[in-house]
Amino acid sequence: MDCLFCAIIKGEIPSKKVYEDDSCYAFLDINPQAPVHCLVVPKEHIASVDAINSESADKVAAIFTAIPKIAASLGLTNGYRVVSNIGEDGCQSVKHLHFHILGGKKLSENMA
Ligand code: AMP
Ligand code: ZN
Repeated sequence: MDCLFCAIIKGEIPSKKVYEDDSCYAFLDINPQAPVHCLVVPKEHIASVDAINSESADKVAAIFTAIPKIAASLGLTNGYRVVSNIGEDGCQSVKHLHFHILGGKKLSENMA
């Protein structure tokens, strides 16, 4: 399978790592849309939120356990936003589940 984020997790494509544990990996977005913009992904390939099931739910729980630690390590002491784009209408461009962490300024109230 040809997956950009699987290649990043394996180190085949370079990334700016900000966090890693047994089940997830976080790195800075190459095209930041806020002063702080990183992506958190499960190491196991899951296509999107739509593909989460009872067998992969623990991987997602691990991501959400890591997110506050990652946010703190990036200095996001005054709040931040977590976003996951899903499918065509959600404008998901990489088909490996990922959560955007956005912050470092007062974000727009407009989400759509
Ligand atoms: P999405 O549009 O929700 O699928 O998000 C994919 C994100 O991956 C976008 O914000 C891209 O800027 C980001 N991205 C694409 N290629 C890379 C890369 N090689 N390293 C880091 N981020 C990337
Ligand atoms: Zn993948």
